[in-house]
Amino acid sequence: MKHPVVNQDDCISCGLCAEVCPEVFRLNDKDLSEVHNPAGASEEKIQEAIDCCPVQCIHWES
Ligand code: SF4
Repeated sequence: MKHPVVNQDDCISCGLCAEVCPEVFRLNDKDLSEVHNPAGASEEKIQEAIDCCPVQCIHWES
């Protein structure tokens, strides 16, 4: 199944993805975004979070 992946090397810890879609994304103890529940929200909502990332470090993998 298609699921979102965060490239943590590029994450700047802005927190936007976790604000837009907290069901799927959260900041870990290093303040980097991580996917805690890849199926926690609709594809549209996950896409919204992907689109709001200022450094485009979230992408889909299948
Ligand atoms: S929106 Fe992008 S840069 Fe901001 S916390 Fe999420 S993954 Fe990191």
